[in-house]
Amino acid sequence: MFNLILFGPPGSGKGTQSEKLISRYGLKHLSTGDLLRSEIASHTPLGLEAKSLMDKGHLVPDEVVIGMISSALDSNAKARGFLFDGFPRTSAQAEALDKLLELKHTSIGVMLALNVSEAELVRRLLKRGETSGRSDDNNELVIRARIGEYHAKTAVVAQYYQHFDKVKLVNGEGTIEEIFRALCKEIDPRLENKVPQ
Ligand code: AMP
Repeated sequence: MFNLILFGPPGSGKGTQSEKLISRYGLKHLSTGDLLRSEIASHTPLGLEAKSLMDKGHLVPDEVVIGMISSALDSNAKARGFLFDGFPRTSAQAEALDKLLELKHTSIGVMLALNVSEAELVRRLLKRGETSGRSDDNNELVIRARIGEYHAKTAVVAQYYQHFDKVKLVNGEGTIEEIFRALCKEIDPRLENKVPQ
């Protein structure tokens, strides 16, 4: 099993690159943002609780997202590996993820951290907001709040994995293909059973 975390602030390209990576490497994509948006679309109590926080650009409580990831791991027991996108976002989530993976006799292979300037993040998110239908993308104050949460609570997660020497920084500015190639360059040597190309 090969598990990787695609890390970076909102707007760094995690979703775009995740789609390309899962198709190249056959990993199961686990995006807590997507899971939360599907709870909202289904009008579940969890979705309702999460929506008011997401609309303000705040993180939802750790236990909510950890619970979602725990069930997703259980219901994809046969996956060849997982790509975590937008999770973990706090140290508590990182510790919980390590424990959940340990129970499954696996671990994180690498964290790939996309590096993008703040001006570029805001520009990309506002542009995405024109078409994404995401209410948290079309308001600059909410975008700034999300980036604020990233600096206050999420950036430390990279230090957590740095401690285990698992972090690789990747330039997140450039064309989608250039960034994808840079990510693959980090993944390929780490994969024992590479997917035939
Ligand atoms: P994303 O799609 O990753 O940009 O996430 C959208 C929003 O969902 C975030 O701004 C948070 O409000 C919430 N969210 C997604 N993942 C997490 C997480 N791991 N922990 C807490 N909140 C999250």
